Amino acid sequence: MPDSSIEKINCLIIGSGPAGYTAAIYASRANLKPVLYTGKEPGGQLTITNDVENYPGYPQGVMGPQMMEDFKNQAIRFGTDIRYEMITKVDFSSTPHKIWSETGHEIHANTVIIATGASAKWLGLESEQKLMNKGVSACAVCDGFFFRGQEVAIVGAGDTAAEEATYLAKLCKKVHLLVRRDEMRASKIMQERVFKTENLQVYWNTETIEILGEEGVEGAKIKNVLTGEISVLPVTGFFVAIGHKPNTELFEGQITLEENKYIKAVPGRSFTNVEGVFVCGDAQDHIYRQAVTAAGTGCMAALDAERYLSERNIV
Ligand code: NDP
Repeated sequence: MPDSSIEKINCLIIGSGPAGYTAAIYASRANLKPVLYTGKEPGGQLTITNDVENYPGYPQGVMGPQMMEDFKNQAIRFGTDIRYEMITKVDFSSTPHKIWSETGHEIHANTVIIATGASAKWLGLESEQKLMNKGVSACAVCDGFFFRGQEVAIVGAGDTAAEEATYLAKLCKKVHLLVRRDEMRASKIMQERVFKTENLQVYWNTETIEILGEEGVEGAKIKNVLTGEISVLPVTGFFVAIGHKPNTELFEGQITLEENKYIKAVPGRSFTNVEGVFVCGDAQDHIYRQAVTAAGTGCMAALDAERYLSERNIV
């Protein structure tokens, strides 16, 4: 039975990764009494990673899910109202903005902070799913360190794959870059870096058939699609760098998106083209995509929301 009463709030946060929770911590401490909807993957992308060693303040490293639990508890400590539900519809055509949750609950919010993140694209192999976080990763900057001195493979042919392959080559004994066509989409300068790196071998027209191993990666079975030749690479790490998809479908038609579907923010700020709607984290960032940068922009969005409300004497 849908809930028919309308709830009026000052600040709605959509998303529960580092950006959303940081926005929640700042908004709660500024007395905006934020309500945060977690979405279907509470904690976001970090809940599908293992060790996080590059987030400042955790000298011994921390497990991704634990870190997000810490973020959440910090937000709760200052009074954030956390709801484990999806937002399924928004109407930003007038203020306050109207938002509906999956149960049909209607909210009128003076400010909305979008922190819905992005999702890595995967190859869709069963073995990839099975070995995720056991040697299969979509983030070389996050996980490359765990494979130093080892052989790894990376799939993709865009700027991310080129950048991550050269990054991995600095840490690993050998990097095998698997490209599905006979050319790379990456910019020429990035490609040149790839070709110049001695311990980086490019495999053209190559697809992955299976990632081998049970509890960890023990190899990758690949196929040259032109010759049909199948071979096994002796790798212990397997990186997927075939792009990310921002979680922004909900906002199509309501807010200006970039051509690549990321939300368009005013450079260096969290403002969108809609008054009172702010964006932070990976939903607006296809370049850095780090927990710490997401958290930083979450802070910016909450500060911008707070200023927006106080300039209008709303709080
Ligand atoms: P892109 O969408 O640019 O590239 C994805 C790549 O993955 C393509 O080459 C594609 O192959 C390949 N791919 C897709 N699906 C599969 C599959 N199933 N199997 C094998 N390969 C597959 O994503 P990126 O993340 O590389 O880049 C996103 C954006 O960010 C781009 O605009 C990029 O320029 C930018 N960027 C810029 C950087 C910089 O300037 N330093 C760094 C990183 C990203 P195919 O070519 O055959 O379609």
